[in-house]
Amino acid sequence: MRIMGKRQTIWLGAAASGVGLTGGVLVCLCACLCSSCRQSLPESVGGAENSRSAGAQSDGKPSEPNVLPRWNRPRTEERQRERLRMVERIRQEYGLQDEAVLEAMRNVPRHWFVPPDQSAYAYYDSPLPIGYGQTISQPFIVAYMTSVLALEPNDRVLEIGTGSGYQAAVLNEFTPNVFTIEIIRPLAERAIETFRRYGYETIRVRIGDGYKGWPEEAPFDAIVVTCAPDKIPPPLLEQLKVGGRMIIPVGSEGRLQELVLVEKDSKGQIRKRSVMDVRFVPLLRQKE
Ligand code: SAH
Repeated sequence: MRIMGKRQTIWLGAAASGVGLTGGVLVCLCACLCSSCRQSLPESVGGAENSRSAGAQSDGKPSEPNVLPRWNRPRTEERQRERLRMVERIRQEYGLQDEAVLEAMRNVPRHWFVPPDQSAYAYYDSPLPIGYGQTISQPFIVAYMTSVLALEPNDRVLEIGTGSGYQAAVLNEFTPNVFTIEIIRPLAERAIETFRRYGYETIRVRIGDGYKGWPEEAPFDAIVVTCAPDKIPPPLLEQLKVGGRMIIPVGSEGRLQELVLVEKDSKGQIRKRSVMDVRFVPLLRQKE
């Protein structure tokens, strides 16, 4: 199976230890629960300092705008070896070879985002509880979802389901224009505090129902949804730019869900492709 990238296609290697391969089904943990997911394929884009495109696309045409933004991307040496090991595991077990995303995963300290009682497990390739019945997603899933978005430095990206803030911090490695919405106020407040404490200066957090998106900041080049609705929320489709991409788990609670890659082509037509079976926490709705 393969996914055509914006610029490149890569193949995902076979499943290895740590995930169970049963009858062609790759079992992996996503957000919160065990899940079965079919073997899947991330896509790859080139890496550069603060940029994937460095102002030019692979067809030689300059990308617009051609000015690379500068923004703070916090770093620490703490637990660096554990991060390296986690990333090598993602590369080897799943065959994810998007070097820019692997670099981002090496750079973002996951232990900053997990509750203190989970800190020892911060670099396990597994989801972890963050309170309020929610979880920080499995690192492989974060890497995979980031990879398929093929982000560029001037992109505007919307995340639904801030949770711990970890996925937003990984997105912040690619672009300063990260917008994230969380429905559970104490989780949103904790993530805001984490961003403030460690110096994530440009990530914008909204407390509310992400089903409706963030119309004031739309349209977005990319949307990543880390909780599962029954159906793709129409406002999110509307708020996706022409040429934009959304990655979203879709399906009912307690059932296997499909991770769907949505693309809005140059004519504004929506194309959807199921890329993996997953299990995420449900998208909750705010009562009107
Ligand atoms: N991206 C997170 C994973 C969080 S799990 C991380 O990196 O840690 C999914 C999150 O989605 C939970 O925090 C949950 O509260 C939130 N959520 C559920 N329904 C939502 C909705 N309608 N709008 C915004 N957030 C929602």
